[in-house]
Amino acid sequence: MDPLGSTLLDLETWAVAHGLPRYRGRQIFDRIHRLLSPDYADARELPAALRDRLAAELPPRRPEIVRRDRAADGSVKFGLRLADGALIEAVYMPGDARTSLANEFTDARAAGREAEGGRREAGSTPAAEKFTVCLSSQTGCAVDCAFCVTGRLGGGRNLTAGEILGQLYAVLADAGRSHEGLRVVFMGMGEPLLNPDGVVLALEILFETLPPRRVTVSTSGITPALARLAALPRRPNLAVSLNAADEATRTRLMPITRTYPLPGLIAAMRAWPLEPRRRILVEYVLIAGVNDSPDDASRLARLLRGIEAKVNVIPLNEDPTYLPEWKRPSEAVIDRFVKTLVDARWPVTVRRSRGPDASAACGQLKGRLQDPRRARMWPRGTRP
Ligand code: SAH
Ligand code: SF4
Repeated sequence: MDPLGSTLLDLETWAVAHGLPRYRGRQIFDRIHRLLSPDYADARELPAALRDRLAAELPPRRPEIVRRDRAADGSVKFGLRLADGALIEAVYMPGDARTSLANEFTDARAAGREAEGGRREAGSTPAAEKFTVCLSSQTGCAVDCAFCVTGRLGGGRNLTAGEILGQLYAVLADAGRSHEGLRVVFMGMGEPLLNPDGVVLALEILFETLPPRRVTVSTSGITPALARLAALPRRPNLAVSLNAADEATRTRLMPITRTYPLPGLIAAMRAWPLEPRRRILVEYVLIAGVNDSPDDASRLARLLRGIEAKVNVIPLNEDPTYLPEWKRPSEAVIDRFVKTLVDARWPVTVRRSRGPDASAACGQLKGRLQDPRRARMWPRGTRP
């Protein structure tokens, strides 16, 4: 049994099965998931003999940090090695609600203007306290989106719930942070809804220590798994990577559209149970000459009609090595696309991805140190 992937009930059951009082299960849970202890050494609430037994039988094994790439804005991309040697990446992003990727998804340009002299809202938390951790759910991604480095590198295996949370706890420990101010986004390597068992269990455990509204799961639109997520008693925020508003363009960019066509995905979004004042985040990677015209924006506005959504425009993060054929649109084209949506009264934000100088931006998480197709050891700028 992996204590990092164990619920409170699992640990209580373990305690009782091992002849211990039930409350020991909660103490173990709190140690690992609330206090974020790396082991049981400091667990004074537990008898010494039990601490030794736990160290032997239920060691919390976090992934090992094998690389840190720091960006100028304070973001850190972590390379983590799992027990079987597989490599994944997670990103730590400092910032307040205005610049956080989670939930608010504020236009970073607006945030910049605030920083230049804007007033802070009365009573809001100091900016430095909030931060976001972007987690991987798989060691690669088989969805194969044409514009995504992770996808270009191919599929991988699912992470277990314990590996997902171990990843989070390793990042928190390294950053010297706790749950305070934390937002979690499943926007790293992999498609969370192709790993529903691991992700749903990780969410169930995480929600014991973090309110669901601080957690966002981003999906390329695995429609049947969306229904499963929708039925959970506690749900994360939903982000859907739409990236195109017509079937042909979306199929070109995201071949998964052939399996789960757009009308079914839109129906699943309509059926998603939203809490009051919440919206579905629609992610739209803007690619020059592909999906960036005012017509594309109008089509998107029509497609989303009647859905409580906000649109997050993500200008493409270019990668000459892995994505030589795709380019980011000019600022003028980005502004024109955004203006069309704003004129149609859609809440829109533009995500200036965090940490691009550390290749920590969306769609740039690789995990692998070697490109399997091009025998090139270190992609540009990632040599440790
Ligand atoms: N698989 C999930 C979550 C990980 S991808 C999903 O697709 O939603 C996280 C986000 O990064 C997605 O919205 C995706 O569209 C975006 N993305 C992928 N490649 C990108 C790139 N090259 N530039 C900008 N955003 C990209
Ligand atoms: Fe996978 Fe998301 Fe990348 Fe598509 S965008 S290949 S679903 S990680």
